[in-house]
Amino acid sequence: MSSLRFRVVEEAFKKKAVYVERPEERPSDYFAKYVFNREKMLRYLPRDTYNSLVDAIDNGKPLNREIADTVAAGMKQWAIEMGVTHYTHWFHPLTDGTAEKHDAFVEHDGKGGMVEEFSGKLLIQQEGDASSFPNGGIRNTFEARGYSAWDPSSPAFIVGDTLCIPTIFISYTGESLDYKAPLLKSIDAVGKAALDVCHYFDPNVKKVIPYLGWEQEYFLVDEGLYAARPDLLLTGRTLMGHESSKNQQLEDHYFGAIPTRVTGFMQELEIEALKLGIPVKTRHNEVAPNQFELAPIYEECNLANDHNQVIMELMRRVARRHGFRVLLHEKPFKGVNGSGKHNNWSLGTNMGVPLMAPAKTPQGNLQFVTFLVNVMMAVYKHNALLKASISSATNAHRLGANEAPPAIISIFLGSQMSKVLDDLENSSEDAIISFGDKMGVKLNISQIPELLMDNTDRNRTSPFAFTGNRFEFRAVGSSANCASAMIALNSAVAFQLKQFKLSVDEKIASGQEKEKAIVSVIREYIKESKPIRFDGNGYSEEWKEEACKRGLDCETSIPLIFDAYMRPSSVEMFSSVGVMNAVELAARNEVKWETYTKKIQIEARVMGDLALNHILPVATRYQSLLLDTVCKIKTVFSEDEAAKISAKDIDIIRKISYHSSEIQEKVKAMVDARKLANKIENEREKAIAYHDMVAPKIDEIRYHIDKLELMVDNQMWPLPKYRELLFVR
Ligand code: ADP
Ligand code: MG
Repeated sequence: MSSLRFRVVEEAFKKKAVYVERPEERPSDYFAKYVFNREKMLRYLPRDTYNSLVDAIDNGKPLNREIADTVAAGMKQWAIEMGVTHYTHWFHPLTDGTAEKHDAFVEHDGKGGMVEEFSGKLLIQQEGDASSFPNGGIRNTFEARGYSAWDPSSPAFIVGDTLCIPTIFISYTGESLDYKAPLLKSIDAVGKAALDVCHYFDPNVKKVIPYLGWEQEYFLVDEGLYAARPDLLLTGRTLMGHESSKNQQLEDHYFGAIPTRVTGFMQELEIEALKLGIPVKTRHNEVAPNQFELAPIYEECNLANDHNQVIMELMRRVARRHGFRVLLHEKPFKGVNGSGKHNNWSLGTNMGVPLMAPAKTPQGNLQFVTFLVNVMMAVYKHNALLKASISSATNAHRLGANEAPPAIISIFLGSQMSKVLDDLENSSEDAIISFGDKMGVKLNISQIPELLMDNTDRNRTSPFAFTGNRFEFRAVGSSANCASAMIALNSAVAFQLKQFKLSVDEKIASGQEKEKAIVSVIREYIKESKPIRFDGNGYSEEWKEEACKRGLDCETSIPLIFDAYMRPSSVEMFSSVGVMNAVELAARNEVKWETYTKKIQIEARVMGDLALNHILPVATRYQSLLLDTVCKIKTVFSEDEAAKISAKDIDIIRKISYHSSEIQEKVKAMVDARKLANKIENEREKAIAYHDMVAPKIDEIRYHIDKLELMVDNQMWPLPKYRELLFVR
């Protein structure tokens, strides 16, 4: 019966915070203890090897086999001193997590004994069975070889007894089968394109770097309660559950005092994260009950993304030590906020100049506006693609719901930046630029207040907001690999900056002064990209209408949203910046559709099982109890009186009948819809069928189950209820 539910609730209530021993050293001392960073490289590598490796990391210079051998030897020595016995190539396949295959260092020594070995060859490259990972048909099983290749720009790190070497994962024919390979290419592309544009302003800049600062939202649920919810266990979200009488309406959780069991979890998570070189900084409660957030200081895009993958794994492990399960699903609970992963993104130069922040000089501000406006153009032209980059079966529950970014991409600039751009658009060129003064050129860009950063009022309804020194891509899902969004954004901005440079160079070639050429192209862009600017309420119905009128992408069906990747404009953009070709894009879309289908399929199966085997039997049992009562009442009272006394019970009996038969019918309809969909071969068509025919049934069934939950005796209800999942901690 429901004894499991009551037992786990009782146990959860009794749990005390787990004591976390703090290291004696200061955080700055144990920071990156488990990372083969520059400090360790210096210590464990010969000087010339160190220099070559740093050159490879900073400037992408290739490393020869000899150097790799020396690096591997140094890494091995460090790792063994740290008690490590195994190593793994660690990569990001096109799934929800990372992959690793552990090998021990030991080899035969040829004399009957063993010796620890780790060669440059093993460091650089490893073969893997690519057919076991999503590959969109690029790998057929009969030629199933792919390989992982070392990414020296992200340092190796230790987890437990294993040395993890960040790698890319590609097919033998060179197509990328992971997130990291195209991410690295996009970082390179946007860096180069931005560098060329920077040289208009400062010829001494050597490199431009994209930065990423993610904010990870998550829920914690007591692990006993979690175990009693097969839907959470198998799908990551609750497929049923009536809203708790209290949830987030009092707004008393956000930034409130952190519960002690959770504080323990956070402390240990932070200590472990710091040891892994992840610069975690911020922790707080989020809006929904049992929802929290963690954010580090931003880092170079590739490293930040690796760190996000590491931390999601770390959260899962640490949560278990504290008797919790961490939910990274975008929408674990209906009726309360879902979880996102804001991607704070910016560009900066090797000289430390941020390109997305106002500067002190007019020249600097022209540079700032140049980059800002180019990002706006990129987002405008590729708004459908950017939406596709953050879309998934799980994030679909969050987007468009009345609490998260809408399923339309727009940019929030804030009143001050809007005014700066409006002024630029409306003043004459001569009013903006005057020549011939002693300093050469004078720019009259209206003063950009330095306080901008603090003043940008935070329009939380915008999916893409300018927040003073960066853009915040807020539509990214909490379970996503940030790379998907970052690949699209970096590439689109790279492509846009290249176009910008062409236009400006053309004007310069035809005799215009540089500044004038820049300003005139920017002014065209400000006009052209206007439809993407929206500072109002992104959740409102009016905005949906208005956005469609403006020609922004308003598609809401996830399988159809993915089509944006195959638009000619996307294929041209990705291939011309060298990030992905048409074959790779097509293969990746196959994976996306397939993954979408599988996720809905799993949910539908779990729903069917829970409905028929967990909920209906309980409803029937309660109904028969009521029937018993009604019959007994008849034996004691007169017919009239009995009818009166039993009226309410009879009403409930009828309702239970109604909801039960609806559930039964709808489960059958859902299974039929699935059978039909499963016959479809084409992955896109199949995903569409799952979206249109299967997914809505899950919600319909849920409606009736949630109604039953309110009718059936609480004692009998088998699944932990929302109030228990959300408030027990
Ligand atoms: P909020 O919740 O108010 O948006 P947080 O402090 O939680 O702010 O998170 C802000 C994130 O943005 C942090 O990860 C921070 O390091 C990052 N960030 C700050 N400045 C930049 C920048 N110039 N480029 C990229 N990320 C940035
Ligand atoms: Mg933020």
